[in-house]
Amino acid sequence: MRSTDGTDGKPWAPRTVAVHAGARRSQYGEVAEAIYLTQGFVYPTAEAAEARFVQSGRDEFIYARYGNPTVAAFEDRMAALEGTEDAFATASGMAAVSGTLCAMLRTGDHVVAARALFGSCIYVLDEVLKRFGVEVTFVDGTDLDQWRAAIRPGTKAVFLESVSNPTLEVVDLKAVAGLAQAVGALVIVDNVFATPVFSQALALGADVVIYSATKHVDGQGRCLGGVVLGTREFIRGTIEPYMKHTGSAMSPFNAWVLLNGLTTMDLRVRAQARTAQELARALEGHPKLSRVLFPALESHPQHEIASAQMGGPGTVMALEVAGGKEAAFRFLNALGVVLISNNLGDARSIATHPATTTHQRLPDTQKAELGITEGLIRLSVGLEDAADLLADLTAALDAA
Ligand SMILES: *Cc1c(COP(=O)(O)O)cnc(C)c1O
Repeated sequence: MRSTDGTDGKPWAPRTVAVHAGARRSQYGEVAEAIYLTQGFVYPTAEAAEARFVQSGRDEFIYARYGNPTVAAFEDRMAALEGTEDAFATASGMAAVSGTLCAMLRTGDHVVAARALFGSCIYVLDEVLKRFGVEVTFVDGTDLDQWRAAIRPGTKAVFLESVSNPTLEVVDLKAVAGLAQAVGALVIVDNVFATPVFSQALALGADVVIYSATKHVDGQGRCLGGVVLGTREFIRGTIEPYMKHTGSAMSPFNAWVLLNGLTTMDLRVRAQARTAQELARALEGHPKLSRVLFPALESHPQHEIASAQMGGPGTVMALEVAGGKEAAFRFLNALGVVLISNNLGDARSIATHPATTTHQRLPDTQKAELGITEGLIRLSVGLEDAADLLADLTAALDAA
């Protein structure tokens, strides 16, 4: 494995880390990482097998559900990039979210969560955890008084999306982390919208950072993946035992795709964010739009917090088409370049109607509370030419 230290002892910058960290070269010296598509590993002797089951080093593997060289390279690269001691890769972002919560919580524990979350995160917190007797208090993530009132001595964890899906609410991470640390609660951040490129979550007080690697890490719409990042003690002591026995391991093939995705992530995310910023500025005030939500706009309710706590605005915005569902559907159906789909962070620009797709199962009252109106469109900005995108969006708004 290559270290993340440059030859002069100076730590590598993130772009170098994203290209090289964690690489393990076989005796053949391949340039691209090898895909170790194997379930198991052979031991030279019975004694060696016994010893490895008692204790195995980072590069001594037993079974691919526990770990695999290609997956380990991805984990090490993600940890180096985020600046955490360790990482555990999972089959999807939701395997990372649900696995982290289930690995660390037990009946009677108390969790405080922001209410504005990805639909599946709401399901895990509001249905699965509650079914097992974990108490979950939901708060308006943008209201510090609500966090202050809900976090109490004994609270085990706080869970939040630093920027929420799909309404781009920004949580003041440093302030919430301060409240959590005062009672010893673990701060778990689903950091998908901030992206690993713009993340400063650790410096702001996050203990555990989670990414759906399906999004910007792959960034080309090919495979699912997730990763949990934290201290070595938390990853190897709490996460690994749960994950390895419950089976949400990442496939070595997906780890290989994601390793290659990481080599271009910085360039892609910065280019997509730049285009998103251009589009948001151009579309703000459009007569067919009642709202444009993007953290880089001065009109965003948490614009200042977003600017202070992220290295960039991200690649996703929300547009509210005036005229409700009918107008929103006319807009979507008139798009020519932007695809109607539900992924985000992809090289292809994607428009989603959360009220009828990703957040469909939420009751109307909850949708209203979260600002998921019938006219709301989530727009993930890709790598196409900005002028082509603007022309496409403007023409579709004319049709709306
Ligand atoms: C997509 C997403 C997830 C889930 O990731 P999968 O890889 O689809 O399982 C979790 N949280 C957020 C904020 C997301 O955008």
